Amino acid sequence: MADLVIRNGTVVDGTGAPPRPADVEITGDRITAVGEVDGVGRREIDAEGLLVTPGFVDIHTHFDGQVTWDPLVAPSSLHGVTSIAMGNCGVGFAPARTDSHEWLIGLLEGVEDIPGTALAEGLTWDWETFPEYLDALARKPHTVDMGAHVPHSALRTYVMGERGADHTVEPTDDELAAMGRSLAEALEAGALGFATSRTEVHRTRDGANIPTLTASERELLTLAEVLRTSGRGVTQLISDCYQTVDDAFADAELDVIEAFARTSARPLSFTVQQAYHSPERWRFIFERVERMRAAGLDVKTQVAPRPIGVLLGLDVTANPFLFCATYDEVATLPTGERVAALRDPERRRRILEEHERLAKTLPEGLLRTLSTDWHVMFRLSDPVDYELDADWSLGAEAARTGADPAGIVYDTLLEDDGNRLLYVPLFNFAHGNFDDIHEMISSPFAMFGLSDAGAHCGAICDASFTTSSLVVWGRDRKRGPRLPVEWLVHAQTQRTAAHVGWLDRGVVAPGYLADVNVIDFDALACPPPHVVRDLPAGGRRLMQEARGYRATVKSGTVTFEDGSPTGELPGTLLRGARPAPA
Ligand SMILES: [Zn+2]
Repeated sequence: MADLVIRNGTVVDGTGAPPRPADVEITGDRITAVGEVDGVGRREIDAEGLLVTPGFVDIHTHFDGQVTWDPLVAPSSLHGVTSIAMGNCGVGFAPARTDSHEWLIGLLEGVEDIPGTALAEGLTWDWETFPEYLDALARKPHTVDMGAHVPHSALRTYVMGERGADHTVEPTDDELAAMGRSLAEALEAGALGFATSRTEVHRTRDGANIPTLTASERELLTLAEVLRTSGRGVTQLISDCYQTVDDAFADAELDVIEAFARTSARPLSFTVQQAYHSPERWRFIFERVERMRAAGLDVKTQVAPRPIGVLLGLDVTANPFLFCATYDEVATLPTGERVAALRDPERRRRILEEHERLAKTLPEGLLRTLSTDWHVMFRLSDPVDYELDADWSLGAEAARTGADPAGIVYDTLLEDDGNRLLYVPLFNFAHGNFDDIHEMISSPFAMFGLSDAGAHCGAICDASFTTSSLVVWGRDRKRGPRLPVEWLVHAQTQRTAAHVGWLDRGVVAPGYLADVNVIDFDALACPPPHVVRDLPAGGRRLMQEARGYRATVKSGTVTFEDGSPTGELPGTLLRGARPAPA
C-alpha cells in the first residue's frame, strides 16, 4: 500500500512538460507512480483543481548559521522550497578556528546583515574543519535538504589567520597549498562546491572589504585545480563586473571567471543583476558568457526573477531619514513612542529640512538610492504586487499631487503604527519595468538565483521569489508577456537542482525523491513581509508567509499544510551530487 496518494491534481512535473491531470503515488521517500493510481494510499490528498509540482530548489541562500539552530528554515520552507544551497558568495562559518569566530560573525553581519548577537548566541561551533561542519549539520534534522559550498573567505582566514582577512595580502606557497588541501578534504566530505566574492558591496561589520575581493589568478586557479582533480563540485561567485561602467574592468573580471571555469572544468555560476547606473552591462556579460559556453565551458548566470527589493521602515535596518540629527534624537525609542514623536509637526519639519540639505552631499550609490530616490520607493500592499509600475511609486504620487515626495515618504513610514514597509527595487528595475528581467531570465544559460534567503534579515526578504515568480510571471503580469507555468516550475526545480548535481529531485516522476508541492494557483499570493524577533538573543528579521500552498511534501513526509508546519523534519544534509534515479 502506498504511503501517500495525491489525487486528481494537475501535475507540472518540473521537466518543462505541459501540465497534465494525474495522481501521484508516494511510497517511502520516493515517487512510485504518476498517472491513474488505483490503490488507496495510507493517506490521500485531494488535489482537484490544484497544481502538483516538485519541491523548489533554491541554490542561492545564506542559511549557513540559521540551520545550526533552526530546523524550520523559514521563510524559504514556507514558499515551497525543499532543498537549499548555502555558503554562497564565499561567506559562511567553516572552516573556522576558535579565534576567528568573532571575525566570521562580523563578516556575516556586515556582508549579509545577519545580527551578530543572534549569530553569537545561536551558533553552536561544534566544528572546526569543513567536514566537521557538515557532520554538525548532518546531526540536525530540518524541514528541507541542504548542501553547502566551501566559502572562500572562511577558507582563506582559516589558513592565513588575520593576514587572510586583508584582500591585498597574497597567500604564501605553503598557505595556498594548505587552502587547496582543506578544499579537497571538504569536497571529499561532501561540500557542494566552492564559492567566492569579488564585490565592493560585500564588507565586514567594520566596513573592511571582503577578504577575497581581489584574490589573484594564482590563488583562484590553484583552488580551481583542486576542483578539477576532485572531479566534483560547482563554483558560485559574485563579481563587480555586473555593476561597473568600465568595460576593461568588466572584461578583466570575466577573464578571471573564464579562467576559473576552464581550469576547474566544473560547472560555474555567477550573479548578474542590473544596476541603475550601468543598465546595459548585463548584455555585455551575457555575450561573454555565450562565448564561454561556445568554447565548451559550463558557465551560467544567476538572475533574480524580480528586482532585489530593499525594505525601508522604522523597525528595519534602513529608512531615508536615518542620517538626520533630529531623527537620531528619537531613533532608539520603541517604535510606538518613535511614531508619536515623529508625528510632531515641528520635528517633522526639521527632519525634512535636514534631509533636503544632507541628501545633496550623498555620493552616488546604494545609500543615495535608499535615501533620496523617491521614484523607486513603493508602498507594500497586501498581497504584494511584485510587478512594480513606476507610476505607483511615492515619487510619482508626489509628482501627480504636487506634494513634497520626502514628506509623502515620511508620512507613509508612519502608517500602520509605524509598521509600514516601503519597497525599493535596488537592482533589475533600471527602465522602470520588468522587460529586462524577462529577457534575462529567458536566456538559456540564466538560472533563478539570488533569493539570498537567510540573509539581509533587516533589509531584504526575497526568499519568497519562488512564490512571486509563479504569481507574477505565470498568472498576474499585466505590463508585458507572461511565461508558461511549466517553464517557471522547471526554472526552480529540475533546472536549479541539476546545476548543483542533485539529479534525484526536481521532477515528479517515478523513482524521483518525493519532494512535492500542492498549490492552489488561483490563491497563490505573498502577504507583505513583517518584522519578527525570533532569532537567538531576540534578534530581528523580516519574515514573509505565503498563501496558496496546500501541502509541501519533503522526501515523502508532509512538512507543511496550508502554511503551517506539521512538525515533521525529514530534511537532511546532502553530501555532494546525487545520481539520477536508475
Ligand atoms: Zn549571496
